[in-house]
Amino acid sequence: MNAPLLTTPVPASGCAAPPILRERGQREVFCGLTGIMWLHRKIQDAFFLIVGSRTCAHLMQSAAGVMIFAEPRFATAIIEEKDLAGLADANAELDAVVERLLARRPEIRMLFLVGSCPSEVIKLDLSRAALRLGQRFAPQVRVLNYSGSGIETTFTQGEDACLTALVPTLPAEPAGAAASLLVVGVLADAVEDQFRRLFAAMGITHLAFLPARRAADMPAVGPQTRYLLVQPFLGETARALENRGATRLAAPFPLGAEGTTAWLRAAADAFGVTDAAFEAAVAAPRERADKALQHSRRALRGRRIFFFPDSQLEIPIARFLARELEMELVEVGTPYLHKEHLAADLALLPAGVQLSEGQDVDRQLDRCLAAAPDITVCGLGLANPLEAQPARRARPDHEMGDRARLHPDSGLRAGR
Ligand code: SF4
Repeated sequence: MNAPLLTTPVPASGCAAPPILRERGQREVFCGLTGIMWLHRKIQDAFFLIVGSRTCAHLMQSAAGVMIFAEPRFATAIIEEKDLAGLADANAELDAVVERLLARRPEIRMLFLVGSCPSEVIKLDLSRAALRLGQRFAPQVRVLNYSGSGIETTFTQGEDACLTALVPTLPAEPAGAAASLLVVGVLADAVEDQFRRLFAAMGITHLAFLPARRAADMPAVGPQTRYLLVQPFLGETARALENRGATRLAAPFPLGAEGTTAWLRAAADAFGVTDAAFEAAVAAPRERADKALQHSRRALRGRRIFFFPDSQLEIPIARFLARELEMELVEVGTPYLHKEHLAADLALLPAGVQLSEGQDVDRQLDRCLAAAPDITVCGLGLANPLEAQPARRARPDHEMGDRARLHPDSGLRAGR
């Protein structure tokens, strides 16, 4: 396999376990409900019914920016004060809401009841509700549940919880099934289609994606399933798949030309694709990717970047920025570090990089301000106070501003 074209290769640590600063103080996290934003677009006949408060409804409304007449495939069943006070039967009210919803939206084939902080506070058992409603509305609608509560999660864990709930419902592989590849994690449809074409060009045809675009097309799983994660925050989904007999293919995550090439290579090796067939499939897109990076490399080369923990994507992004765009990593913070799933990315980080797991937000802010990085990647809760800080270093007007935000929809945006 050819390495991607890098003008100045950064020496990798070659060490799967660089030192990690572990912090367990106050954390700035974002609610797991937000995963619904991309999940509802992906599974096109699913509906996400949040069982929550007006706060949850406002969060979803403002984060999604969806007008109510657009008939989005998510909504909030609001827990009122009388429910919180135990004066009403929340289960009966939930059943009535679901009945009205399914009568009005007959196209729904999969309904997720999504738990929240308030539903957990009143100990509303959504797994029993899902079982009860599933029996009532089968076979037209499958009803599942998961928690999107923001008490102890990062915002990306909503996807992990949703896919974990899906795994036990996946059909079993037929007896005597040939080995198959399962790509796990939500991808934009255009990206999924590109991967489909690349795998087909390599001759890997027993291929499926989790989640599928429609409820009836969810993939089978079993001992012949080899799976590739597309996101580093799918630890529980991976565990559930392994409980069904599937085997994970170890690889860096598919971010950047190098990471994506190595990720594809892991599948190629597992399915006996020849070097020639692999090169024929990936050479042209890899070259296009490298060309596309040249402009960003010129702008970002030598810039110092600091990651606050937010999405669990930080380590693969940092690996990409250091190796392919030649940025300098000041600190790479991540909310949780799954050493096994991230082993290949960790081994490619530059030697001596400062990693941190968890957060003590005041101490981390002090470190960030003292280091005065060129770019800071953080959640929106920290972006505004950081933007309000006076610039530490003068720089010419044409240079990039000193703060950037990372947002799952917008990518890396820089601004003053
Ligand atoms: S689930 Fe919890 S953190 Fe998320 S919006 Fe509702 S109350 Fe807030």
